[in-house]
Amino acid sequence: MYVCSVSKERARKQLGFAVNIQHHIPSLYIHIPFCISKCIYCDFNSIVMKSPAVDEYLKAIEKELQSATENYSFRTVFIGGGTPTVLNERQLSWLLRMIAKHVDVPNLREYTIEVNPGTLSDEKAVIMKNSYVGRISIGIQSFNDRYLKLLGRIHSANEAKDVFLNVREKGFKNISIDLIYGYPAQTLSEWKKDLRECCTLGPEHISAYCLTYESGTPIVKMTDSGNMKRLSEEEELKMYEFTNDFLCDKGYNHYEISNFAKQGKECQHNTVYWENREYIGIGAGAFSYVNGERSCNIKSVKEYITSIESKKKSICFSEKLPQKQRASEILIMALRMTSGISKKEFIERSGFDLNELFRKQLYDLTRAGLINFDDERVKLTKKGLSLADSVMMEFV
Ligand code: SF4
Repeated sequence: MYVCSVSKERARKQLGFAVNIQHHIPSLYIHIPFCISKCIYCDFNSIVMKSPAVDEYLKAIEKELQSATENYSFRTVFIGGGTPTVLNERQLSWLLRMIAKHVDVPNLREYTIEVNPGTLSDEKAVIMKNSYVGRISIGIQSFNDRYLKLLGRIHSANEAKDVFLNVREKGFKNISIDLIYGYPAQTLSEWKKDLRECCTLGPEHISAYCLTYESGTPIVKMTDSGNMKRLSEEEELKMYEFTNDFLCDKGYNHYEISNFAKQGKECQHNTVYWENREYIGIGAGAFSYVNGERSCNIKSVKEYITSIESKKKSICFSEKLPQKQRASEILIMALRMTSGISKKEFIERSGFDLNELFRKQLYDLTRAGLINFDDERVKLTKKGLSLADSVMMEFV
């Protein structure tokens, strides 16, 4: 099994894991769990929006934000979902004002908001621009209307392009586009066309994820019942390899398994997860990692609101990992970055000598041509990137 499929948010949601304290300035993630409708592949913590619940939810995150941000300054802020831009203009303004009350937004290293093309008005783009949001991450997923419909997306390809041009016109200089490939019936030439259209727009950052079939999602039921046929691993792999070559040719730095950026435009917030630095998550189902402890908020929006309202804790789970498990997770996450990790950094983060802990695995994987391990650092080779799932399993 190869891996290029774990999306940045999925990585965060699943992993919430790992780590040693690297920096004392954490990042902040705020989760807006509402969507207009559910996409057929989605297993994120999101629900179809019901208007009264949104105001109640915003009140709850305001309270959590107030208590969780005391005594902290932040490196980056990421507002994700769900669909943050389903908030109406009043709610979006309210959200951004409440963040500005607790966070020194003009001095953040990066301030990102996720945008679904079916939900962005002109006024919302202006509100974001006037609130110091500097980075827009647009979930376009495909430039093919047939597949957008199949995936359950609420926008057309032309609407997505218009939204990109609109936010560019509003002055945003750091725009990321999310794409998905490898869904049933998609051909390599259709995927090539998507990549070409994406590059024509000229985003600073591109995330290209292979579709993952998460159990319980409608797409899994459809493929299990034979209504749709999954692509083979070979077909997915060809698409992955083409993506890497094509985007590198277009001047994008392939800095993480599924992420590509123009010089200096790598996503600093997601790098926090990959480099095992601290972060605080606000909202239903959000993960935090602080002082060596990872925790997760109550997932249900209703229960999260009730819990915050009744001044109970919003956390439903927390743990401190045993040292060896933490070391293994540090390595696995670091290997997602194409630069890998140096031996020195590994010792600093985990307290273990890389060679002593994983001598056999490192030797075998080097011989198999899957990792590059020299005196300085360890990283995946080109072949290793394509087979990253299997490589990572060796360190579990
Ligand atoms: S817009 Fe995003 S979060 Fe909402 S249902 Fe679709 S994939 Fe899930």
